[in-house]
Amino acid sequence: MKVLQDLSMSALCGLVAECGEKPFRAKQIFEGLMQGKTLLELPVPAALRSRLLAEYENEPVKIKEVFSSPDGTEKFLFELHDGHLIEGVLMRYRYGNTQCVSTQVGCRMGCKFCASTLNGRLRDLTAGEILAQVAAVNRREGGSLKERRVTNLVLMGSGEPFDNYDNVLAFLKNVTAEGGLHISARNISLSTCGLVPEMRRFAEEGIPLNLTVSLHASTDEERRRTMPIANRFTIAEILDACACYFEKTGRRYIFEYALIDGENADMVHAKRLADLLKGRPCHVNLIRLNEVKERSMRGASEENAQAFLKALTDAGISATVRRSMGADIGGACGQLRAKYLASDGSSEGGRNGS
Ligand code: SAH
Repeated sequence: MKVLQDLSMSALCGLVAECGEKPFRAKQIFEGLMQGKTLLELPVPAALRSRLLAEYENEPVKIKEVFSSPDGTEKFLFELHDGHLIEGVLMRYRYGNTQCVSTQVGCRMGCKFCASTLNGRLRDLTAGEILAQVAAVNRREGGSLKERRVTNLVLMGSGEPFDNYDNVLAFLKNVTAEGGLHISARNISLSTCGLVPEMRRFAEEGIPLNLTVSLHASTDEERRRTMPIANRFTIAEILDACACYFEKTGRRYIFEYALIDGENADMVHAKRLADLLKGRPCHVNLIRLNEVKERSMRGASEENAQAFLKALTDAGISATVRRSMGADIGGACGQLRAKYLASDGSSEGGRNGS
């Protein structure tokens, strides 16, 4: 079975024409899906609905559980049509609500501090499966297409977006498209561990979003200790690709830097990081490592984070410490799914073939 949410408006026009239906049906379907409706709920004639249901999943992404934190953060566990589980988070800020979406089931990048990669990558998500996470959450929060309750997106759930390039690109086109959720690219952050060829390719697509790179180290040697991808690409290559993105889009880029006690959080690291980034149109997001049960690394203390921040800003680098939201509900990447799998999630994927 296929995923109807994968289709762009123009692909839906083609599909509707093939079914011998009037063109306005395509718009109805597109809007309905963007509102988070199942195929059964689409306001289309019964004959068209049955044709769609014969080929496409009724509800490819279901909200299976919701966990709420006192700070307003909500964490979602989604079930895919083949039984796989992915997770997402909705964080409330003064300027709107930011949803964190997943792009793959699991991840194969192997970062030592991250829970998403513990079992490797099980499969890529399709464009429609990424989109359906947003549509489902917006609906659940009482949002519509005109009054969205999801205003910002970060591609920081499980998965490496650039390891699923084509589907992520199709998703970005559909989620920013007029007539649908129409989320502005400027309100979307895509985080990559630094796949340089895809970063360069993405610069050519002309999508002016917030390109975010997980740096987490100030030298290649240090980076290789926690991020296997550093064996393939150097920090210098990453910085060049970022410069290329800035040149093409005019958007400054962002570095994620998780402060890990005894690893990358000392003043010598701050100084090196500042030297590395000086004069570049970038921002540094510091976050104290969210401790993951399966990993031995410790997050730096709040005082350490503030001292690191001060060292960067004193050196003229734009930086902030990101509030860690929803830590009590397993806010970090892959934590919820990992916890769920450890309890009774042995059923994940268990519906395959049944
Ligand atoms: N694969 C992409 C996006 C997903 S992770 C990437 O690597 O950028 C989103 C961010 O959370 C990344 O910066 C990632 O390095 C970071 N992250 C992963 N585990 C973390 C943890 N335990 N604590 C803090 N940040 C973490």
